This record gives sequence, structure tokens and C-alpha cells, in this order.
Amino acid sequence: MAEVLNPLFVSCKRCGGCIKLSVKSLYDPFHWKKHRERCLKKPVHIVTQKKREVERLVRKSDGLLGGTPTDLSPLAVPPPKTNIGSIR
Ligand SMILES: [Zn+2]
Repeated sequence: MAEVLNPLFVSCKRCGGCIKLSVKSLYDPFHWKKHRERCLKKPVHIVTQKKREVERLVRKSDGLLGGTPTDLSPLAVPPPKTNIGSIR
């Protein structure tokens, strides 16, 4: 259910969320286990709804990269992930 992005982050395949792991030990699953417990308690329809929103955002940005600027507002573009590279 978890997809490892790098030693500090895993992504949740159920809700599409990104979970930060412990900074003290690599691949420490403590935070992930906590997230999974909470995630599994959520009703499935809420989770899938959120996931669909994320997928829609991803598809929107794909359209931007593809060069089809139509009615997309600048607010729909997610901010650049600048803080991920600086945490190491
Ligand atoms: Zn989750």
C-alpha cells in the first residue's frame, strides 16, 4: 500500500498522500504505520474522492506541459516542491 519515494518519504496508494518518515533513521516505518491506521479508518468514498481530486490536478498540470493553455487559472497549478530537496 505504500510506495517509497525516497528514504524520507513514502506515498500512500490509498489516499495519494505523502508521508514523511523519521529523519533520525532511514526507512523508519513508524510514521507510515500511524498514517496507515488513520487512513484505514477513513470511509472509502472520502479517500477515493480526494484521490480523484489529486489525479485531476496532475492531469491539469500535464495539460499545461503539453501546451494547451485554455481556461486554466494560475491558482490551479500546484506550488513547486522546493522544500523536499533542502531536507537532507
Ligand atoms: Zn493514506
